[in-house]
Amino acid sequence: MATVVKPTGPLRQIGAPPMVPRIAPREDLNPFRIAQIQFDMAAEFLKLEPGLRQILRTPKRVLEVSIPTKMDNGQVKVHTGFRVQHNISRGPGKGGIRYHPNVTLDEVKALAAWMTWKTAVLNVPFGGAKGGVICDPKRMSKTELERMTRRYASEILPIIGPTMDIPAPDVYTDAQTMAWIMDTYSMTVGHSVHGVVTGKPVSIGGSEGRSEATARGLLFVVEEACKLKKIPLRGATVAIQGFGNAGATAARLFAEKKAKIIALSDTRGGVTNSRGIDPIKAIRYKERSGTVVGMPGASRMTNDDLLTMKCDILVPAALENVITLHNAEAIKARIVAEAANGPTTPHADEILARRGITVLPDILANAGGVTVSYFEWVQNMEGLMWDAEEVNMRLQKSMVRAFHEMVETMRKHHVPPRAGAMILAVGRVAEATLVRGLFP
Ligand code: NAD
Repeated sequence: MATVVKPTGPLRQIGAPPMVPRIAPREDLNPFRIAQIQFDMAAEFLKLEPGLRQILRTPKRVLEVSIPTKMDNGQVKVHTGFRVQHNISRGPGKGGIRYHPNVTLDEVKALAAWMTWKTAVLNVPFGGAKGGVICDPKRMSKTELERMTRRYASEILPIIGPTMDIPAPDVYTDAQTMAWIMDTYSMTVGHSVHGVVTGKPVSIGGSEGRSEATARGLLFVVEEACKLKKIPLRGATVAIQGFGNAGATAARLFAEKKAKIIALSDTRGGVTNSRGIDPIKAIRYKERSGTVVGMPGASRMTNDDLLTMKCDILVPAALENVITLHNAEAIKARIVAEAANGPTTPHADEILARRGITVLPDILANAGGVTVSYFEWVQNMEGLMWDAEEVNMRLQKSMVRAFHEMVETMRKHHVPPRAGAMILAVGRVAEATLVRGLFP
């Protein structure tokens, strides 16, 4: 049973009577075990019975595949890939595909579980799934990536489909990757199946607004949190770690709201300017040189320093476990808005809560992507085409509603934001699982 510790400070302003579960003193960075710690805490608050806990904390299906890929030099390289379906009680599995040298099965299992909770927080009728391939996409040519993607798609084909499990882009995959998967699936079944993936190019059934949906959704929840914490977004200082789909788009959208982007980074390091960095110039510079490092008008900084610099809003938008026991005491942001999945460890969460720093949790803060993925899937299934204005309006409504449902849950259970979002999500999935009953 979790015991609680009292944080102080501005967390109260977003309605959280201050209580946070205390966890074991040694820090475990295994993402799946972290996902399970977060789940256990919510299950404890909801007093779920042990059998139901077992069902919800374990993935429903795990598939590991070998992906023999002909490389451009004529040699064959065998990559390993995964697809994990964590829970499909509320609808088909949904979740991205990650290409990265450090992908592990436990990482994919964690990301799949977080997808289950994310779709439930947003109340979209999907379950949670995730895929990953251990590879080094930065060192692969486009033709190598295409061959690997098509073979991976054919290997996971028996368990994906528009009513089974619908992949989407994640780290180092994009709309082109989704187009190859959609084409491979369609060629195999003999007709075009748009709804098998989301995040596709608009020309083959992708949705307007999908490419920027994760960042736009983040902006909507940050706006709501800023209202409650009485932080004017205009002029607020923002530091962003990770300058890809989520991070670079967030930089652009925050700047459009007149927030000041004071630091950006990617794998090669960071750049800073207290007077503000123009994200459009940073995007153009990165397109030319492959990194933000060295862009004119900003000085160099490390990724570590970026995380602990003084700012109003810190946006981790790269990978897991960047805010940990080791740097949580040094974080100076007032709001941490998690564009990345799993950037904050449970230990760091506890420290940030005690210090009154509001963490907008990944399962809410970056859920704009899956929400517009749902809109894309609905359009595909119904043969509809919504314009960007309609998509963004629906996204805003969904994100704002989910934010306030989270705040309501925080107030009811006297917990900080991540616990509020988890209790909301786990409660919904538990209810769906219970009402369906156990087969056979
Ligand atoms: P991406 O591949 O487009 O960009 C990743 C960025 O992170 C790149 O700029 C890369 O240089 C940077 N990066 C990688 N490792 C880093 C490190 N160690 N330090 C600093 N920067 C580093 O990926 P993305 O789609 O923007 O995803 C980023 C995060 O957002 C991931 O955690 C992903 O799961 C999450 N996310 C993405 C989406 C989406 O729709 N793309 C949706 C929800 C969550």
